[in-house]
Amino acid sequence: MLLIPESEIAGLMTREAAFDAVEKVFAAMAAKDAYNFPVVREAIGHEDALYGFKGGFDQAGLTLGLKAGGYWPNNLEKRGLINHQSTVFLFDPDTGKPAAMVGGNLLTALRTAAASSVSIKHLARNDAKVIGMIGAGHQATFQLRAALEQRRFEKVIGWNYHPEMLPNLEAVAKDAGVPFDAVDLPGMRDADVIISITSAFAPSLMADHVSPGTHIACMGTDTKGKQEVEAALLTRATVFTDEVAQSISIGEAQHAVADGLIREEDVLQLGAVINGTHSGRTSNDEITLFDGTGVGLQDLAAAAAVVDLAVQRGVAIEVDF
Ligand code: NAD
Repeated sequence: MLLIPESEIAGLMTREAAFDAVEKVFAAMAAKDAYNFPVVREAIGHEDALYGFKGGFDQAGLTLGLKAGGYWPNNLEKRGLINHQSTVFLFDPDTGKPAAMVGGNLLTALRTAAASSVSIKHLARNDAKVIGMIGAGHQATFQLRAALEQRRFEKVIGWNYHPEMLPNLEAVAKDAGVPFDAVDLPGMRDADVIISITSAFAPSLMADHVSPGTHIACMGTDTKGKQEVEAALLTRATVFTDEVAQSISIGEAQHAVADGLIREEDVLQLGAVINGTHSGRTSNDEITLFDGTGVGLQDLAAAAAVVDLAVQRGVAIEVDF
C-alpha cells in the first residue's frame, strides 16, 4: 500500500493533471462507465464536526475508493489546523486490498477548481474576455487561478459578501497579469464568465445581473439549503451539472426544482458535452450554467493521478499492509 502525505501533494499535483483527471471522469460518468455512491454526511456530536464519505467506482479508469473527512470548525482557533480535513483511500478493484492513502485537503481545492475550468472549456464563449468572481475565500483563489487558463481573459471583476476579502482575488489576478476591479452585483452584467464559490444560504446573484451569452459556474452549493443564485436564473439558462442526483438535491438546482421552475430532466450532464453526445452551447446569446456539486469520483481521479506522479518521482511511501 502506498502513502502520499498531504505535505507532498503541492510538489506533485498540477492544475493540468487535476483538469485532465476531472474531465476524463466527468466523461466516464456520462458514458455510465463510472458511478458515485450515495453521499454520507453526519454531524457527529463532537467538536461541532461534520464528517462523511464520498465514494465511487470508475470502471473505465479502474479507480475504486472513497474520500473521508469533513469540517471541524474549531480546528483553526484551537489547534492551528485548517477546518476542512479529508483523506482519500484507494482500493485495488481486482482484490479489494487497500492500494493508497492520499492527503485530500489540497486535492479538494484543485479538483473543485478543475471542475469549473472543465465547464468553462466546454461551455463558455470562445471570445470571453471578462471573468466575474463571487466569493473570495479559500476555494475562490484556486477557482480563479485555474479559470484564467481557459480563455484569454482581459479583466477580472469581483464581488464578495465580505469586501475585506477581495484582495485575495486581486492577488491572484495580479499574479496572472490581469487587471482586477471590485464591482457591485449588477456590475456582473459585464462578465462573460462568472464563478460563484461562497458558503451562502441565500442568493446573491440575481437573474437580471447576468447578460445573455454568459457562462456561470455555481460551485459553492453542495449541501441542502445552500444557495448562491436566484432560482429564476436557472430558467434563463441551459443547466449542466456533474451529477444530476446531487444537483437537484444538494446543488444549486435544488431550489429551482423544488419551486417547480425546472424539472430534473432539464438538468444535463457536463460529461455528455465532453463526450459529444450533447451539443453544449448552441448560440452566443445562450446562458449556460454549470452546477458543480462536487462528486467522490473527482476526488478518486485526482488521487489516482497524484499516486502515479508520486510513484514516478519516487516519493510514495510503501508500507506492507
Ligand atoms: P471560505 O470560508 O474560505 O469562504 C467562504 C466564502 O463565502 C467567502 O467569500 C465569504 O465572504 C462568503 N460568504 C460567507 N457568508 C456569505 C453570505 N451570507 N452570502 C454570500 N457570501 C458569503 O470557504 P471556502 O473553502 O472558500 O468554500 C466556499 C464554499 O465552497 C463552501 O460552501 C464549501 O462547502 C464549498 N465547496 C464546494 C465544493 C464543490 O465541489 N462544489 C468543494 C469545496 C468547497
